[in-house]
Amino acid sequence: PEPETTFSRVMLKISGEALMGDQGFGLHPPTVQRIAQEVKRVSDLGVEICMVIGGGNIFRGLSGSAQGMERTTADYMGMLATVMNALAMQSALEEIGVFTRVISAIRMDEVAEPYIRRRAVRHLEKKRVCIFAAGTGNPYFTTDTAATLRANEMACEAIFMGKNGVDGIYDKDPKEHADAVRYDSVSYDDVLAKRLKVMDASAIALARDNNLPLIVFSLDEPGGFRGILAGRGTYTKVG
Ligand code: UDP
Repeated sequence: PEPETTFSRVMLKISGEALMGDQGFGLHPPTVQRIAQEVKRVSDLGVEICMVIGGGNIFRGLSGSAQGMERTTADYMGMLATVMNALAMQSALEEIGVFTRVISAIRMDEVAEPYIRRRAVRHLEKKRVCIFAAGTGNPYFTTDTAATLRANEMACEAIFMGKNGVDGIYDKDPKEHADAVRYDSVSYDDVLAKRLKVMDASAIALARDNNLPLIVFSLDEPGGFRGILAGRGTYTKVG
C-alpha cells in the first residue's frame, strides 16, 4: 500500500501557551494529553519526531526584563520554563506508550539528557520522540530559533508549527478582520518583508538560509497533525 505520508523526520514546534488550555497560565494536563495524542498518531506512522515546546505559558524573558529583571537571568528562567513543559509532554507521551527523551541545551543530568547530536539522531532512528528543551541554551534567542536550529541539525524535512485557533498565516489578523485571507504558500522573504507574524526574524533567516520548509497549521482538530503530514487540511507553507 501507498504510505500515508512522504515525511520521515519532522520537527513539531508548539508554543508554551498551547499547553495552558483556557487557564491563561501554566500547564493544563488534559490539553497536554490531547497534544500527546496528536503526536502519537504521527509516531504510529513510523515518522521520526523532534519537538520543541516554548515556555511562554510560564515565563518569558522579555516580560521579566520589562519588570526590571536582568535580561539574561530572565531568559534563563524562560529556558527553565521550557524544561518543565518538556517534562509534562514526556510524561503524557510515555503514558500512552510513546517512547521519548528530553534533551536539554542546559545541563541538568538528573532531569534530562545533555544535547549530543549523534546521540539524539540515534534516538530518532529508534523511533523515540526527542523533546529538545531549554531552547538554544543561550539568552536573547527564542524557542522558534531553537526549533529551527535543531531541525537543521537533525536533518528534519520540515518544521511543523502547530497553532491554536488559527490554521495558517493570514495577510492580517483573522481574529480582528473578517476579510483576512490565508496564504497557501509564502516565501521567507515575504514573511520578513511584510512582517508577517510567524516566527522571529532570526529563526526565519536560519530556516531560509538552509532551505528548511515551515508549515503552519492548526492543532485544534483531532488528527490534524497527521492529516497535514498526509497533505490534508488547510495550512500555510513557508519556503
Ligand atoms: N529563551 C532563551 N533562549 C532560547 C530559547 C528561549 O533565552 O534559546 C527564553 C526567552 O526568555 C523566552 C523564553 O525562554 O522568552 C520562552 O521561550 P519562547 O518565548 O520562545 O516561548 P513560546 O513563545 O514559544 O511559548
